Amino acid sequence: MKTYRIALVPGDGIGKEVVPAGQQVLKVLAQSEGEFAFEFENFEWGGDFYRHHGTMMPADGLDALRNKDAILFGSAGDPDIPDHITLWGLRLKICQGLDQYANVRPTRILPGIDAPLKRCRAEDLDWVIVRENTEGEYSGAGGRVHQGFPIEVATDLSVMTRAGAERIQRYAFRLAQSRPRRRLTVVTKSNAQRHAMVMWDEIAQEVARDFPDVQWDKEMVDAMTARMVNKPVTLDTIVATNLHADILSDLAAALAGSLGIGPTANINPERKYPSMFEPIHGSAFDIMGKGIANPVGTFWTVVMMLEHLGEPDAARRVMRAIEHVTANPKLHTRDLGGTANTADVTEAVCMEIAATAKRPLATA
Ligand code: NAD
Ligand code: MN
Repeated sequence: MKTYRIALVPGDGIGKEVVPAGQQVLKVLAQSEGEFAFEFENFEWGGDFYRHHGTMMPADGLDALRNKDAILFGSAGDPDIPDHITLWGLRLKICQGLDQYANVRPTRILPGIDAPLKRCRAEDLDWVIVRENTEGEYSGAGGRVHQGFPIEVATDLSVMTRAGAERIQRYAFRLAQSRPRRRLTVVTKSNAQRHAMVMWDEIAQEVARDFPDVQWDKEMVDAMTARMVNKPVTLDTIVATNLHADILSDLAAALAGSLGIGPTANINPERKYPSMFEPIHGSAFDIMGKGIANPVGTFWTVVMMLEHLGEPDAARRVMRAIEHVTANPKLHTRDLGGTANTADVTEAVCMEIAATAKRPLATA
């Protein structure tokens, strides 16, 4: 029987609540499918680790992840530690260290979810945003000079490499090609950013030649926000730089109903290193420790992980269980206007998975 080695990195805040919920779903799934198993290893990195050791994760932490089949991540972010330290010390360290250059975020309006767009039917909004995840505006290049003096200067240098732009666009074209509508929108800002973004556009033109069956267009990032709101049905697969896609994907999540629902995959497409799967939300300081976080984003994340592991049937079964549960307003958490808590939703999804199992659950 195939055993998948999964690293669990709950991190901080509600990450510590939703990752165990995701693990519970995986356990029930493995038990009921009976065709594969999971071997979990939990890594308690994040804010508490930082308070003890002065770093978010051990120096050799990446080595412990390298032999895993996948990583399930919660959130990095602690109320008492500056955000740039928690983000760079954990999440970005893993993404860059394991060359997870494709950040993939599907967005749909799930059954039972009251989304904010008035004239948008659920089937009109079915997007996947592909975000460049290792360079661009978040390359980390830059610095501060004359610190503390009136002449202080600070720079964040956006770095775009031809290789980096080409591999992410190729990934996006390939993904667009695999989806029914075979449509890709390349987000740019080459009117104002006249070096890197111009090269980005040129590379899109070049890569497009290898995908004659993909219908593609170009949209400026500012116009893109309006198009997402006004003409959602004209979009399918979307590719953008690190910063642009960061912003657009939060907008996408809001248009789909809640930040608590959306999943993300940080993919190393060559599979040289494990990929990392996480809900899009952060630590949610305002609700952490209360047991009311919406675990649906993590469950959908688990679906992406199963697809990546090559278990599409199991992935579909979990997705159906999620949709069955979101369709019932009694099982909505507070962010969706309901009163259910994390445990209620988790239990409902697990029960649905077990109920639709190929094989009955082994009795304990
Ligand atoms: P956030 O996603 O943590 O919270 C934004 C709002 O959405 C809050 O009101 C929160 O309660 C709500 N929310 C988010 N997820 C929810 C869920 N699953 N169920 C119910 N409500 C939910 O974003 P923020 O407030 O901007 O950031 C808080 C911290 O998290 C910061 O330290 C930030 O750097 C970090 N963060 C980390 C990641 C990551 O690790 N990938 C992503 C975003 C933010
Ligand atoms: Mn973001």
